[in-house]
Amino acid sequence: MKNPIPYGRQNITEEDIEAVVNTLKSDYLTQGPRIAEFEDDFSDYVGSKYAVAVSNGTAALHLCAIALNIRPGDKVITTSITFAASANCVRYCGGEVVFADIDPETYLLDINKVRELLENAPQGTYKGVIPVDFAGRAVNLQEFKQLAEEYDLWIIEDSCHAPGGYFIDSKDQKQLCGNGEFADLAIFSFHPVKHIASGEGGMITTNDKKLYEKLLQLRTHGIVKDDNKYINTPDFANGFTVNSSVDETYPAWYMEMHDLGYNYRLTDFQAALASSQLKRADEGLEKRSVIASRYQEAFKNKYFIKGQSGVIDGHAYHLYVLEVEDRLGLYNYLRENQIFSQIHYIPCHLMPYYREFGWKEGDLPVAEKYYKTCISLPIYPTLLKEEQEYVIEKINSFYED
Ligand SMILES: *Cc1c(COP(=O)(O)O)cnc(C)c1O
Repeated sequence: MKNPIPYGRQNITEEDIEAVVNTLKSDYLTQGPRIAEFEDDFSDYVGSKYAVAVSNGTAALHLCAIALNIRPGDKVITTSITFAASANCVRYCGGEVVFADIDPETYLLDINKVRELLENAPQGTYKGVIPVDFAGRAVNLQEFKQLAEEYDLWIIEDSCHAPGGYFIDSKDQKQLCGNGEFADLAIFSFHPVKHIASGEGGMITTNDKKLYEKLLQLRTHGIVKDDNKYINTPDFANGFTVNSSVDETYPAWYMEMHDLGYNYRLTDFQAALASSQLKRADEGLEKRSVIASRYQEAFKNKYFIKGQSGVIDGHAYHLYVLEVEDRLGLYNYLRENQIFSQIHYIPCHLMPYYREFGWKEGDLPVAEKYYKTCISLPIYPTLLKEEQEYVIEKINSFYED
């Protein structure tokens, strides 16, 4: 096998390239018509009322943290088995990250561990919770919403791994990740290893109009451009007109900065690329699911397997995770054979940065145990059947030799 096989990769078609080139030839490079189009298409896709495109998934998390008004000292609960950005957004606003353990079956934030934290603290201690649809498996947000209502928490769903993923609610309805039914805000990333690639890119979805408007503002420096929302008078806006007959209208150049926002805009050509990719999102999910089923079949009942992602309805299969014996040996053996598996994730609470806050080994035994054996296998829509068979064959030969 000549070509190296990564754990994930983007798929750029001629159609995608054409979409970008057409945008480059248009009048807009940054915020233009492609942004709103992509936001509309994306909110349709996940079933939310509103969507705000931003420069990347981390920026999306940061704006969510600001919009929900995280203040220094505010405690927010999240999982340790995630990309650091899920937790870091709390720190950007000076809040305190409280990691809770994962469920050993789903690898997701364990709601019982979250409930324990809430029960053992005075009401009002915690402000919010950030569940992550890790690997593409949708968190049951209906359950989290009940808990959030009981303890007056907001929810940010980190759905970077799961556009198109869903869970089945208590009424047997599909609830798509990021649909805004249960979480206040949800975020997505369009980094090349994710389902939809735009180079860098991110999205926030919500059903809350107030949060939506706030996010639009925060995305562009906190600037407002709307005659009906200005705080200064038209008189001031016109330059303190002396002896004014009181100007009643604002001049066309006028705008006001109301909040400390950022420049977290996506460019129009990135939005064009992402929109073009979004058209193939369902096809990509199907291919991922076929690959997952083959892994499931290949490794069930193997003595060296301690656990695997399995085949689950609504799983978006950003990752396919095995828990194995001799993980390091397997990882290195696969590398020697040009197969680049990856580890998701080194527990966040044991990163040197978070250790400084007192987190230590033994704090989250399930997450730590998971980390010792987990390995993510190649899974992406253009992974060929022969390539996957080669991966499976190499894994089997590593253990059976
Ligand atoms: C990729 C990712 C992010 C961050 O997205 P970027 O676009 O890379 O900033 C956040 N959370 C999770 C779970 C991710 O996988």
